Amino acid sequence: MTPELVVDNVTKTYPNGVRALKGVSLRIPAGMFGLLGPNGAGKSTLMRTIATLQEPDGGSIEFGDIDVLKQKDAVRRVLGYLPQEFGLYPKVSALELLDHFAVLKGLVDKRQRAEIVNSVLHRTNLWAVRRQRLGTFSGGMKQRFGIAQALLGSPRLMIVDEPTAGLDPAERLRFHNMLSEIGENVVVILSTHIVEDVSDLCSRMAIIASGRVLLSGDPQSAINTLRGRIWKKFVARDELASYERDLAVISTHLVAGRTAVHVMAPSRPDPSFEEVPADLEDVYFSTLHAADQKAA
Ligand code: ADP
Repeated sequence: MTPELVVDNVTKTYPNGVRALKGVSLRIPAGMFGLLGPNGAGKSTLMRTIATLQEPDGGSIEFGDIDVLKQKDAVRRVLGYLPQEFGLYPKVSALELLDHFAVLKGLVDKRQRAEIVNSVLHRTNLWAVRRQRLGTFSGGMKQRFGIAQALLGSPRLMIVDEPTAGLDPAERLRFHNMLSEIGENVVVILSTHIVEDVSDLCSRMAIIASGRVLLSGDPQSAINTLRGRIWKKFVARDELASYERDLAVISTHLVAGRTAVHVMAPSRPDPSFEEVPADLEDVYFSTLHAADQKAA
């Protein structure tokens, strides 16, 4: 049984005074967990802390009987980490670099290592291009290579930081399919600012902004709480400011060149609004909106 990852009251202030984590607590069970938040929310800080790459100021993190902040070697044995940005040696092949990483992971037996490397190349659909230089890889292939290296050593805790930025839609879909196949017995934390990544993939999620968890749970229950409260209207661009002043405008979209606003209200603001079914984007923006109102 894969244990839960339990993050309790984790705080971090950088030397420049930025309070990146202001008491973050989360319970993350096996399966895909989406950590959703705008840029600067503290996601990478939390991911790097869980990945034992930096120290928090306070709080605790446990993964089963592993004390993540103290037993770093034990964490690293079960961890697969795909950082936001990673360098690749452009002149070596996928096969060579994976083999090298596998040696670093302690896989010294040549036959066993070849078996594992071949298996992750197949799982990430890179088998056909394994002898190609990494410098020739597309963005999507590089991301899949990132997952391949994270899968060496059969991790039980996978951290994937902002993975789909810069991928085209087809690559993104392929990447999603791969992540969702990684297995039910692994805690996979997907950190992202893209709502669709979470709605497509994650059975559990949290929204984080300004170093605080604003909401956590399962996406569908969060959506259900907004039922009958999201109203849509097309507005002229110069009317937008007055709507924003008078109503809780949680998002604006361009739809075929016209501006559609989503408003949160207990009842129809006026007959020109139509009710729309809430989705995760409404959850996300209404949660951020409420936090902004509170801060103002
Ligand atoms: P996210 O991943 O959600 O974009 P980060 O964890 O990268 O958020 O950043 C959270 C806040 O901490 C931001 O205000 C960022 O500028 C700041 N920050 C991140 N890393 C450092 C650092 N090494 N030194 C100082 N401030 C940092």
